[in-house]
Amino acid sequence: MMLAPVRPTSLDDVVKVVKAANKWPPFAVSVRGHRHSINGQADTRMKCVVVEMGKGIKGPKVWEKEMYVDVWGGELWIDVLKATMEYGLAPMSWTDYLYLSVGGTLSNAGISGQTFNYGPQISNVF
Ligand SMILES: Cc1cc2nc3c(=O)[nH]c(=O)nc-3n(C[C@H](O)[C@H](O)[C@H](O)COP(=O)(O)OP(=O)(O)OC[C@H]3O[C@@H](n4cnc5c(N)ncnc54)[C@H](O)[C@@H]3O)c2cc1C
Repeated sequence: MMLAPVRPTSLDDVVKVVKAANKWPPFAVSVRGHRHSINGQADTRMKCVVVEMGKGIKGPKVWEKEMYVDVWGGELWIDVLKATMEYGLAPMSWTDYLYLSVGGTLSNAGISGQTFNYGPQISNVF
């Protein structure tokens, strides 16, 4: 049951919510990406505050030479692709549908055709 949504604009906002959850009265913290999971995975049975990740405020940061990209957990894969394509790069592993959040697909591995060659998305992040 959702008590309230929180729309963080920084990592610090998320840290504050998690710390507050341990104070009295305690509450659960849930996270939502783009809300496409169909079995209520982003909900809890307990009273909870839902962190709605949304898009990052800065957008993906591409490290061209090192060939990686820094992204906010709520960023959509379509936007990650657009940002990397500007440098002639693309993530190694995909989902077929790209309007899913990075955090949301990593929570269930993230699979597609490239998984056979490069592993699921979760094997390509650090
Ligand atoms: C049309 C469609 C096509 C799909 N195609 C594929 C596919 O090709 N390959 C594939 O692997 N999957 C596919 N999926 C499944 C999809 O990967 C999952 O449903 C995914 O969880 C949805 O991402 P979301 O951003 O909507 O996450 P949500 O539904 O918002 O959240 C899903 C789970 O992730 C958790 N979560 C979300 N963000 C974070 C975060 N930042 N940190 C920690 N936990 C977080 C939530 O708490 C929840 O448990 C598809 C789904 C749809 C609807």
